[in-house]
Amino acid sequence: MSTKESNLDILVAGGGIVGATTACALALQGLRVGLIEPHPPSDSFDPVYFDHRVSAITRASEQIFRALGAWDKMCARRVTPFREMHVWDDAGCGAIHFDSADLGEDSLGHIVENRVMQIALLETLRALPHVEIYSPAAPTRLRIDDAAAQLDLDNGRTLHAALIIGSDGHASWVREQCGITQRASPYEQSALIANVETSLPHRDTAWQCFTAEGPVALLPLANGHSSLVWSVPHARCAALLQLDDTRFLHELNLAFGDSLGLIHAVGARATHPLQRAHANDYISSRVALVGDAAHTVHPMAGQGVNLGLLDAATLAEVVLDAHRAGRDLGDLLVLRRYERWRKGHNLAMQTAIDGLKLLFAKRNPAILWARNIGVRFTDENTALKNFIAQHAIGRRGDLPALARAP
Ligand SMILES: Cc1cc2nc3c(=O)[nH]c(=O)nc-3n(C[C@H](O)[C@H](O)[C@H](O)COP(=O)(O)OP(=O)(O)OC[C@H]3O[C@@H](n4cnc5c(N)ncnc54)[C@H](O)[C@@H]3O)c2cc1C
Repeated sequence: MSTKESNLDILVAGGGIVGATTACALALQGLRVGLIEPHPPSDSFDPVYFDHRVSAITRASEQIFRALGAWDKMCARRVTPFREMHVWDDAGCGAIHFDSADLGEDSLGHIVENRVMQIALLETLRALPHVEIYSPAAPTRLRIDDAAAQLDLDNGRTLHAALIIGSDGHASWVREQCGITQRASPYEQSALIANVETSLPHRDTAWQCFTAEGPVALLPLANGHSSLVWSVPHARCAALLQLDDTRFLHELNLAFGDSLGLIHAVGARATHPLQRAHANDYISSRVALVGDAAHTVHPMAGQGVNLGLLDAATLAEVVLDAHRAGRDLGDLLVLRRYERWRKGHNLAMQTAIDGLKLLFAKRNPAILWARNIGVRFTDENTALKNFIAQHAIGRRGDLPALARAP
């Protein structure tokens, strides 16, 4: 083997939140892991201004980060707990209120900047032995044979491993190279994101209003500001992006209402086109897909990265069990256990989110009437509401060991 070649147990292509978590979980147990990331995040951290990409992180995801030793590094930078959630419909009188106290929990979850998670995970990974980080670097060629997978990088290196994990996002190169197809359908919406200031305090509460155009969510941030995620049809999104701040805030106040008083300031705005996608297979010989490489969902339920983190913890558990049993880590029979464990769960969550989206988009009077009754019934039925909330925050279901509460 030349000096430009390396032999590892596992290669993880994509060092976003899900890829870095997968790599940590495997390296922590002594496997030799190589991580390839073309766009390393800048290490600088602004103590005043929030990044506009933030995610609502479930208790299960927090538990995974704790188990890997990355949670304290995130807290040392910035995380914001949310203790309550208010969801309502601008066309009716139904509303649902979730409270962490009803579940015996400190919080329903945390709002964390994506960059804070990625930086903390990469810092954790760098401190582990037997980890090679190739960044900035991108794969150029993937070859699979009976003995190993081989990945050529654009920096001239060639890497060999028993298994390649594709965590390279929704436009996954690894997925494409393996010929894994996916079912994708655009939501015909874009998410407009920005940080905003409101005249009333957010009270550590996540707020979401369903409108005819799509949901408007305000997530609480540590400095009293809130993070806006406003899903609207593409043309409307493009128009909103063009407005000056005063006219934009006028439109936003009309859509969101006055639950937080007046929304009176907005930072830089960005948009993301939204699509639903699900890979037809999560695995092929010596390859497994995790996170957005395997599935994407609408952001209205704040589940995308949380599903990916459960993929990461599950795949790590399956691979580590195989390692302890002396099995080939890239064997399809080993990987099949991961696919069976996660695919049905992700599909069920995706279907539930799309069902809610469809239900709240309807303005037909009969559906409005039935929806109001359904929403009120759910809000008043504590057992049903707690059951839904415990699934949403990741305290129920067939969780991998890393995600279970201690
Ligand atoms: C507006 C919006 C709001 C959202 N809010 C939430 C929320 O509140 N809660 C939640 O759970 N989810 C949320 N999501 C979803 C969440 O952002 C994604 O599910 C999550 O970022 C996916 O992480 P990932 O690591 O799988 O993929 P990515 O974040 O896409 O990371 C992929 C990584 O792979 C790298 N890469 C790309 N190409 C290659 C290649 N060829 N080789 C190697 N590496 C490559 C990229 O540089 C990147 O670092 C939201 C999404 C949007 C759009």
